[in-house]
Amino acid sequence: MVHAEQVHKSFGSIEVLKGIDLQVRAGEVCCLLGPSGSGKSTFLRCINHLEKINAGWIRVDGELIGYRERGGKLHEMREKEVAAQRRAIGMVFQRFNLFPHKTALENVTEAPLLVRKEKRAEVRERAAALLERVGLGDKLGNYPSQLSGGQQQRVAIARALAMKPKLMLFDEPTSALDPELVGEVLDVMKDLAHDGMTMIVVTHEIGFAREVGDSLVFMDNGVVVESGNPREVIADPKHERTKAFLAKVL
Ligand code: ATP
Ligand code: MG
Repeated sequence: MVHAEQVHKSFGSIEVLKGIDLQVRAGEVCCLLGPSGSGKSTFLRCINHLEKINAGWIRVDGELIGYRERGGKLHEMREKEVAAQRRAIGMVFQRFNLFPHKTALENVTEAPLLVRKEKRAEVRERAAALLERVGLGDKLGNYPSQLSGGQQQRVAIARALAMKPKLMLFDEPTSALDPELVGEVLDVMKDLAHDGMTMIVVTHEIGFAREVGDSLVFMDNGVVVESGNPREVIADPKHERTKAFLAKVL
C-alpha cells in the first residue's frame, strides 16, 4: 500500500530525510519511532504531499505521490490532482485542530460535504455512524470545548475516516493527552487496525507498537536505523541507538 524508496528531503541546506526506504502492506500497521528531530513528522508529511521531496519516490496504492508517469517520464501533478490524491490519505495530528464553532457531527460532515459534494443526508448518516464507532454516539451535538481531549481526538479520527481513506497517518495522536485519556484513543486505533485499515503511526506508545504493530521502524537523524517485527525489535534491538532510545521510553 505504501512504498517509499530513497526519500530525501531538505529544508534549505539541512537534509532532514537522508534516504528513507519503507514498505507497508495493505492492512498492516507500521509504527514509526525515533527521537525528536529525527524526521518522523516530515516523512509523514511527505507521504501526503504536504512536503515535496527532493529525491526518491513514494507510492501509495501503486500511485506515485505528486507525479504522473507519462511516456516513461515523470510530470509534476497539478494542484487539483494532488488534492485528489491527498483526500485518499487520512491524517491525525497531535493537536486535534477541530473547528471550534462546529459540533462533533459538523466537524465530521464538513469535508465530505464540501469536498466530496455528497448528499447531506448520506453524509450525516455516515458521520453519525463513525462517531458511534469511536464511542461518541451520544456527543454528536457537542462543541469541541464541551469534549475532553480524548473525545476531541476521537472526533478527529472520525473526521479523517469520513473521507473514506485507504491509508491513515497518525502523528503522535496521544502525546498531547492526559495519561488517563490515552487508552481510549489507542483503543479506537486498535479497532481500526483490526478492521484492516492500513496505518502508519508515529508513537512512543511501546505497548501499542508491540500489540498492534505489524512492523516497527526506528528512525534517527533522517535515516532508518532498524526495522522489523515490533516484538522482536523491542525485545532485542540490534542497534545501539535503538537500544538507547527504547531504554528511555520503556
Ligand atoms: P518530534 O518527535 O519532535 O516531533 P520529528 O521526528 O517529527 O520530531 P521533524 O518534525 O520531522 O522531526 O523534524 C525534523 C527536522 O526537520 C528538525 O530538525 C526540524 O527542525 C526540521 N524541520 C521540520 N520542518 C521544517 C521546516 N518547515 N523548515 C525547516 N526545518 C524544518
Ligand atoms: Mg514530529
